[in-house]
Amino acid sequence: TSLLPRNHWPLLRDNEEVCVFGTGDLGRSLGLRLLQAGYGVVFGSRRPHSSSSLIPHGSQVLGHAAAAQSGHLIFIAVQREHYDFLVPLANQLKGKVLVDLSNNLRKNQYPEANAEYLQSLVPGAEVVKGFNTLSAWSLQKGPSDANRQVYICGESVQAKQAVMAVATKLGFSALDRGFLSVARELEDFPLQLFPQWRLPLYIATGLSAAFFFYLLIRDIIYAYFTQGKDISFRIMVSLANKVCPIVSLIMLSLCYLPGVLASFLQLYRGTKYRRFPDWLDRWMLCRKQLGLLALGFAFLHVLYTLIIPIRYYVRFKATEQNRTTEFDTTTAWSGDSYLSLGILGFSLYVLLGITSLPSVSNVLSWREFSFIQSKLGHLTLLLCTAHTYLYGWNKFLSSSTYKWCTPPGYMLCLVLPSVVLLLKLLLITPCVDRTITRIRQGWERRADQRNPKNSQPLIP
Ligand code: NAP
Repeated sequence: TSLLPRNHWPLLRDNEEVCVFGTGDLGRSLGLRLLQAGYGVVFGSRRPHSSSSLIPHGSQVLGHAAAAQSGHLIFIAVQREHYDFLVPLANQLKGKVLVDLSNNLRKNQYPEANAEYLQSLVPGAEVVKGFNTLSAWSLQKGPSDANRQVYICGESVQAKQAVMAVATKLGFSALDRGFLSVARELEDFPLQLFPQWRLPLYIATGLSAAFFFYLLIRDIIYAYFTQGKDISFRIMVSLANKVCPIVSLIMLSLCYLPGVLASFLQLYRGTKYRRFPDWLDRWMLCRKQLGLLALGFAFLHVLYTLIIPIRYYVRFKATEQNRTTEFDTTTAWSGDSYLSLGILGFSLYVLLGITSLPSVSNVLSWREFSFIQSKLGHLTLLLCTAHTYLYGWNKFLSSSTYKWCTPPGYMLCLVLPSVVLLLKLLLITPCVDRTITRIRQGWERRADQRNPKNSQPLIP
């Protein structure tokens, strides 16, 4: 059976034997899962007689050559550096499907992908890359939502089908990614370190550090130099509670700014068929991460605000104060409005965060998703910006606000959201909105100029 011509691989039957080369961590975990799924498992090992007691019960351990005779499908759970042990086995492996599970320590470690290297060592076999994105631990644990996906690639459709059938039987959903040339991409998957989070994390760290030092100078160092007061204890809560909302609001604006810029670019070009510049593309792709980090900072702001009444400093001040002023309704209105807008903004913020989770967004229609993320998203930005304006309230025109001639942090952080909201306001004015809608439906200004007969008036 092992010498069946290529492209005539039978799909595995129940209880059919599957071979696993290598009795290491991954080999043993995979063997156990295969046994549990009803396959017979034969391990191929360098030392079949002294193999470890951890070998799953019910499997056999043979030498590589003998094990290779036991099935069509052989999982290679051995490090790539040792693949040359397969060369003397080339004859026994002719006509077999070899599943390359290997990963590397870093990108571009070798000139060619491990799976392509394996194919070059055993040209008579059909190599399929797959299962490498799973860990030994997750194989033992069983598929959960997060690691249900298995990626497969290879030259022979039927060899891939045989591997995908096994993956499905083990409880995974297999995705055919194409030919063996994709193997390098699959080998790079496990090496990724939050690729789409990197830029948002840099921005969040940079903004936090910049505003922390700015506020440290304005609040703490200023008080020390001008009044001789040591209020450095404020760093822990007061300063943190200023930095968090500032970073949150700027990051929320950064989440909506690229969409607005993209619309203006399309308006300027008069077409949607020209690519956005790379930086804008990259920026748009990390909007979800920017938004989630912004939500994280908003959440910290809420927590810091909630603990204000239990702070020693606040309780001390409260007992010290004698009421000397009359109740002012205007101040009460501004204070309550400030708090209310903050609560409403934060609630919508949480809604945006929840709907960005794949398990939630997958059950929303495109219209529902874009209504929440775009319309409610801009409303969130509006509420949070208004919340910050009300925080400034009557302080904007007071000269004591500008210590050492510098504006307070909340004023600086209002610049970007105000610009984004103004630009968005321009975009939703009826005549601009109509043009943008037409461009997004495929209309091109230049095509109209070439053929005026096709043109329809923008403003009927
Ligand atoms: P491991 O624990 O080091 O086991 C590798 C096995 O390869 C050994 O137990 C040994 O089995 C065999 N071996 C070692 N040297 C050999 C040689 N010179 N010639 C022939 N066979 C040799 O490694 P592992 O963690 O199971 O990983 C195996 C492969 O799966 C690697 O390519 C790795 O990148 C990939 N992978 C691992 C994981 C994981 O979570 N561990 C996840 C995805 C992919 P015998 O003693 O029985 O011969």
